[in-house]
Amino acid sequence: MTTHDLTLISATDGSALPREPFVARHLIDGQWRDSADGATFVRHSPAHGVPVTRAAEGGTVEAEAAVATARRAFDDGRWASLSGKDRSTLLLRVADLIDRDRDRIALMETLESGKPISQARAEIEGAADLWRYAAALARALRGDSHNSLGADMLGIVLKEPVGVVSIITPWNFPFLIVSQKLPFALAAGCTAVVKPSELTPATTVILGELLVEAGLPDGVVNIVLGYGQPVGALMTTHDDIDMVSFTGSTAVGKAIVAAASGTLKKVSLELGGKNPQVVFADADLDSAADAIVFGIYFNAGECCNSGSRIIVHKDIADEVTQRVIALSRRVPFGDPLHPDTKVGAIISPEHQNKIDGYVQSAGKAGATIRLGGGPLTVPGLPGQFYQPTVVSGVTAEMAIAREEIFGPVLSVLEFNTFDEAIALANDGAYGLSAGVWSENVHTCLEFTRRVQAGTVWTNTWMDGFAELPFGGVKESGLGRELGRFGLDEYLEVKTVQMRIGRTRTPWVHDR
Ligand code: NAD
Repeated sequence: MTTHDLTLISATDGSALPREPFVARHLIDGQWRDSADGATFVRHSPAHGVPVTRAAEGGTVEAEAAVATARRAFDDGRWASLSGKDRSTLLLRVADLIDRDRDRIALMETLESGKPISQARAEIEGAADLWRYAAALARALRGDSHNSLGADMLGIVLKEPVGVVSIITPWNFPFLIVSQKLPFALAAGCTAVVKPSELTPATTVILGELLVEAGLPDGVVNIVLGYGQPVGALMTTHDDIDMVSFTGSTAVGKAIVAAASGTLKKVSLELGGKNPQVVFADADLDSAADAIVFGIYFNAGECCNSGSRIIVHKDIADEVTQRVIALSRRVPFGDPLHPDTKVGAIISPEHQNKIDGYVQSAGKAGATIRLGGGPLTVPGLPGQFYQPTVVSGVTAEMAIAREEIFGPVLSVLEFNTFDEAIALANDGAYGLSAGVWSENVHTCLEFTRRVQAGTVWTNTWMDGFAELPFGGVKESGLGRELGRFGLDEYLEVKTVQMRIGRTRTPWVHDR
C-alpha cells in the first residue's frame, strides 16, 4: 500500500517542542529530590525523536523513603483525620489547578506518549472531572447502621481508609489513569506512593506540583520515578504498604499478585483486554463502522479498551470490512502536535516491532491483510508510526485474535448464529469490555447478559463516565475503578456492635 492512500499529517514547524527537557524529580515528604546516587533517565518523544524529559531514576533508597513517609503520614492522621469536607475542598482545588494548567499538562502528555494533542487536552479535562467527582464522594462517605438486631443491640458498620496505597500506572493514559486512582484514594483518607511508567513520568510530576500548590499536607502523596525493578517491586512487597492499585499488563499484574501475597496486601488490578464488538446483520452499519474505526485507532490502538476484535455476521462481513477500510483511509495519522491529527506515534521502536510481528504472523497463519500491515513514514518526523491495519479471515485460534496487540490493528472474525457470536466473544483469557450492534433490543439484552466482560456497550463504543464503574473480569483484572465502587476499593469495613444497657446474659453463671 502506498501512503497516499491514507490521510497523513506531516510534521508541524516544531515550535511546540521544548528547548530543554522537562526535569522530573521524586516528591518525598513534600520535597523535590534527585536520586541519592544521581541516576537519571531520558525520555525522547516517540514522534519527534528529541529528548523531552530528564527524570531522576529511583532506587531502593527513594522507594524506602517514600514508603516510610507515606506510612508516617497515614499513621499520624494528618490526612485521614480531616473531615470529608476538608478533603473534598482540597480535591476541588486540585481540579481547578488541573484546568488552569491543562495545556501545559497536555503538551507533556503528547510529547512523552505520542498521542494527539487534541486528545491529550480532552483527557486532562476528563481527569479534572474525576478529581471533582472524587471530591463529591469524600463528602458522601458513610457506612451503615443496624437498628433491628434486638432491643439491646445497635450495629454500626464503619468505612475506614485502607491505609498506605501503592499506585503503579502505565504509559498509555498517564494522567487520566493516575486520576482514576489517586483522588479516590485521597477521598477515602489514604496516603500514597505513586510510580508512573518510566516512559511517561512528566505529567505525574506536574500533578505532584499541583498537589503541593493546593496545600496537600507533606508526605500524603509521594512520587517515585523509575522502573518496575527495583521501585515497583519494593512498592508491592513492603510491609508498610497496605494496598496496591495497579494498571498495566496482565503479565505484570500476575507478578504483582504473587509479590503482594507475601504480606496479603489488598490488590486492585486493571489489566489488558481483547475486546470484541459483535455486529449483527440488522445493525445500523453507518454508526457501527464509525465506532469500529474509533475503537481500533483511538490512542493508536494502545488502549486497554481497544475494540481489536470485530465479530461480524457472515451476511454483512464483506460490506462492514469494506466500509471500515474506506473510513480507515480517512483517519488523519501523523504529527501528534498538529490539532487535526487523530492518531499519533507508537510508544517505542520495540513496541512497533511487536505489533508488526503479530500482523506478519497472522499473514503466515492464513489471514488476509486487507489494509496496511507495516510501519508508516510521516513526512518530517523520525519517530515510529504504524499504518491503519485491517486483517480479515482471522480465526479464533490465531494469536492475532487472542492476544493484546496494543496497536492500530483490527481483526475481523465471522459468525452465523447468536450462540457462535457469544462463543467467539467469550473465547479467550480477557474480559474487559465488549460491544454489540443490533437494532433489536432483545439481541442486545441477551448479549449483555451472556458476554463475559466488565463493561458492555450496546450500539456505542468506549463512552465513559466518572459515575460508572470500570474494570474487568477473568484475566482483565480485579476490582473496579470510578463510581461509588471506585471509592470502596480504598476502604475497609469495620463492624461495631454496641450493647445497650446491662442485658448481656453472663457466659459464666454464678454457682
Ligand atoms: P506494564 O505492565 O509493562 O507496566 C505498568 C507499570 O508497572 C509501569 O509503571 C512499570 O514500570 C511497572 N512495573 C513493571 N514491572 C513491575 C513489577 N515487577 N512490579 C511492579 N511494577 C512493575 O504495562 P504498560 O506497558 O505500561 O501498559 C500497557 C498495559 O496496560 C496493557 O496491557 C494495557 O491493556 C494495560 N492497561 C489496562 C488498563 C485498564 O484499565 N484495564 C488501562 C490502561 C492500560
